[in-house]
Amino acid sequence: MIAGVERLTASDIFNALRPLDLPPDRPVIAHASLSAFGQVEGGAEALLEAVLGVAPRLMMPAFTYKTMIIPPCGPEKNGLTYGSGRESNRLAEFFRAGMPADRLMGAAAEALRRRPGTQRSLHPILSFCGVGVAEALASQTLKEPLAPVGVLAEQGGWVLLLGVDHTVNTSLHYAEAQAGRRQFTRWALTLSGIYECPNFPGCSQGFQEIETYSRPFARTVRVGWAKVTALPLQPLLRTATALIRSNPRALLCRNPACELCACAVE
Ligand SMILES: [Zn+2]
Repeated sequence: MIAGVERLTASDIFNALRPLDLPPDRPVIAHASLSAFGQVEGGAEALLEAVLGVAPRLMMPAFTYKTMIIPPCGPEKNGLTYGSGRESNRLAEFFRAGMPADRLMGAAAEALRRRPGTQRSLHPILSFCGVGVAEALASQTLKEPLAPVGVLAEQGGWVLLLGVDHTVNTSLHYAEAQAGRRQFTRWALTLSGIYECPNFPGCSQGFQEIETYSRPFARTVRVGWAKVTALPLQPLLRTATALIRSNPRALLCRNPACELCACAVE
């Protein structure tokens, strides 16, 4: 507990999110950092309850990077150093439907995954979980890992960034694929062998660039220490796709050592 800082309750967060005025019948894909909110009474579960209060049809990524295997060789221009996984491959875990979401997804995503009644798609690396989003979850295949984002967009869905910026905005990867940007192949360990996972998205470290362009249709509130932004998916995807088509380097990161971003424009 930090002196002079009040602990937020679920209802504090719910009340602070209400001015976003999200249409309750529309699905939402959310990304959250619990720690960005400061102290929250009840932790990730409380944050999740507040979010479900304003977004009862909720989807979050429940990605499982621990299943990933790096093979000794594979396709060219794949943003990967083959053979570099000799140590990490030994620690890889078999995908299971009940596997926790990776820590990088945040505690709220894992709280949603664990919640009774939550459904989960079964991509061995890029699964999503949610409530009230059955159609989106059912649309995911090995070949189309980001199809759930497309379904949410068709349904007039929204993106909700809770104390995080666009560098975790998975929907922008969907826009990259729509714009024709190179996608990658990755491999996952499963109980029925190693699965090849095509159309795997690239690097998201340059995604914050979209903030300037999405400002006209973004809604923002402050909740405790956290900035929360809501964006309707359709204009977001249209804007990002147009940006990439007009500049092939748009939304890529500036790290010259980034293998993914180098391959994306080759
Ligand atoms: Zn990069």
